[in-house]
Amino acid sequence: MRIILLGPPGAGKGTQAKMIVKDFQIKQLSTGDLLRENRKQGTDLGKEAQKFMDAGDLVPDSVILGMVAEEFKKPELEPGYILDGFPRTCPQADGLDQLLKDQNLNLDHVLVLEVPDSELVRRLTARRSCSECGHIYNLVFNPPQKDGICDHDGSPLIHRSDDTEATVVNRLAVYKKQTEPLIDHYDPQGLVRHIDGTGNVQDIYNRILAVLK
Ligand code: AMP
Repeated sequence: MRIILLGPPGAGKGTQAKMIVKDFQIKQLSTGDLLRENRKQGTDLGKEAQKFMDAGDLVPDSVILGMVAEEFKKPELEPGYILDGFPRTCPQADGLDQLLKDQNLNLDHVLVLEVPDSELVRRLTARRSCSECGHIYNLVFNPPQKDGICDHDGSPLIHRSDDTEATVVNRLAVYKKQTEPLIDHYDPQGLVRHIDGTGNVQDIYNRILAVLK
């Protein structure tokens, strides 16, 4: 199964992707996670991406497509994957179409998680994630048991540098302008499934399951 997970920042893509991965034994490919890992390791790619990420702007398409093309060579992706945060622009969607065509593969679903803007800002500014395992918490509706510490592995939680209110507003504007039009890219192929992304995590996941099964 090959799925794209679309939705604005804070819609819960990462959280839902991790649940899908567990149940369907496919891989999560998050371009945001890959970029953050590159940044942490201090690679050239990470250094190049840093200024775009800090401003809440998109990293250039050529950089992203090169990175994804490398990932697509990995045999771990053969059973299927969920693309989280990619594609984010029309040229990236065209690039993905080409990569799939080269491998003689198709997409199965494009899931669009829908959440109102006011809720997104509230979610993102309260979001924290584990510095080691990446588990995502929310200080308001899904806090860790111990302040600032991951329930799963005891590592410190971090507040992403691009989850501040000023950057979040820009990221939402960038989503509307550059990423939302992708719904029209995939609609004619009959792949788009709109999912109500409000409510608790399990309810949202059940809506996704109803579409996938
Ligand atoms: P995310 O974790 O998906 O919210 O991504 C965090 C940041 O990484 C974004 O605000 C962008 O700066 C960058 N990024 C992640 N994925 C992409 C992509 N597909 N295209 C361009 N920039 C991206």
